Amino acid sequence: MASAPSLTEAALRRALLEREAAGLRRLRRLVDGPQGPEVVVEGRRLLAFCSNDYLGLAADPRLAEAAARALRRHGTGSGASHLVSGHMRPHHELEEALADFTGRARALVFSTGYMANLGVVGALAGRGDTVVEDRLNHASLLDAARLAGARLRRYPHADAAAAARLLARAQGRRLLVTDGVFSMDGDVAPLAALAETARAHGAWLVVDDAHGLGVVGPGGRGSLEAAGLDAAAAPVLVGTLGKAFGTFGAFVAGSEALVETLIQQARSYIYTTALPPAVAEAAREAVRIAAAEPWRRERLRGLVARFRAGAAALGLPLAPSGTPIQPLIVGEAEAAVRLSRALEARGIWVPAIRPPTVPPGRARLRITLSAAHDEAHVARLLEALAEAWRGCGGG
Ligand code: PMP
Repeated sequence: MASAPSLTEAALRRALLEREAAGLRRLRRLVDGPQGPEVVVEGRRLLAFCSNDYLGLAADPRLAEAAARALRRHGTGSGASHLVSGHMRPHHELEEALADFTGRARALVFSTGYMANLGVVGALAGRGDTVVEDRLNHASLLDAARLAGARLRRYPHADAAAAARLLARAQGRRLLVTDGVFSMDGDVAPLAALAETARAHGAWLVVDDAHGLGVVGPGGRGSLEAAGLDAAAAPVLVGTLGKAFGTFGAFVAGSEALVETLIQQARSYIYTTALPPAVAEAAREAVRIAAAEPWRRERLRGLVARFRAGAAALGLPLAPSGTPIQPLIVGEAEAAVRLSRALEARGIWVPAIRPPTVPPGRARLRITLSAAHDEAHVARLLEALAEAWRGCGGG
C-alpha cells in the first residue's frame, strides 16, 4: 500500500520545483511608487497593461486627499466589525453613494470582493440548495457555493440554455450566478437570457460586476445597464472598489430585505473588521468622479477600439471583447511566459495568465487598458507586440 504523502520541507520544495518546470510558478513583482500607466518594477520603469485601474483613479490626487482628510478626522482603524463598534460615518456615506450609483435601495460594504461573494452566496444558499454558475466565473463565486455546502452545478461559458437545463433539475432554493464582465476573458455575460432563465425557474440572478461597474454602460453603471436590465431582473449586484474605483473593498447592492439579511447572516460580513474609514472616504470620492467624468469611459472606449484595430492589422489572436480586458490567447503556459518576457524586454509589462486561473491550453496575456493610458502608449504596446509575437514564433 502506498504511504500517504508526508508534510515535509523537502516535499514542499519538490512541488515548487515541479511547478517551476511546468512554467506554472506564480511570481510577485515589487512595484515602487504609485500605480499608473508607467510603474517602476524592481528598479526598471515599465509601461503597464495589467492593472484593473480602468478609470485611472488609483493614483488620483483627489482620492488621496479624501483619504488624508479622513485619516486626520477618523484615524487609521475602524477598531472592530460593523456589528460591534466599527460601523463609522464614512462607511454609512459610502453605502448611500453606492446605492445611489447603482440605483438600488441599499448597498452593504464588504472588506473585499472575495468576501462579498462568500457572504452573499452563503447567506442565500446552504445545504439542500442549488447554485448554478458559469464555468468561467471568478474563483470566489465558485468557492462561495462550495463553502455554503450547496450543490454547485456549472454550465458551459455563457450558455443560458444549459443554465436553464440545470435549473430545471435543481433542488431547494436556486441561485443563478455569473460574472457581468468575465475577468480573464473580457466578454459580457448574456444577461438578458440569464435573467429570463432565472425568472422562468424561480431562481435569483446574482451578478458580480467587478469589472463592469464604472466602465461598461452609458453611465458606467455596469453590464446590467448596458443590457437594459433593472433590479427586478437581477436582484443581487456585487461590485468591487479595488478596480475602476481605484481603492479597496467591495459591496453588495439590492433591496432593503436583501441587505438586512446579509447583515444578519453573511459570515464574511459579521466576523471581520470594517474597512479603514479613510479607504471608505477615498472610495466615495471615486464613485463621485466615476459619475461626474464620463470622458474617462469615452477615452477608454477610444483606446480599446484603437488597440483592437491595430491588433487585427497585425493578425494577433485577441479574444472577442469590447471591454478594457483584451486577452491575447497564446495556448501553452510556457509560450505565454516567453511572450510576456519578450514584451518586458521591450519595456512593456503584461504578466502571463496560466492554468488553473484559465483552462489548460488557454494561457494568455491579459492586456488591460485604462483611461490613464493615451494613444502613444497604445502605439508603443502594438509595436512591442508585433516584434515580440514574431520573435516568439507567432503570426
Ligand atoms: N469578482 C471578480 C469577478 C473579480 O475579478 C475579483 C478580483 N479579481 C473579485 C471578485 C474579488 O475582488 P477583491 O479583489 O476585492 O477580493
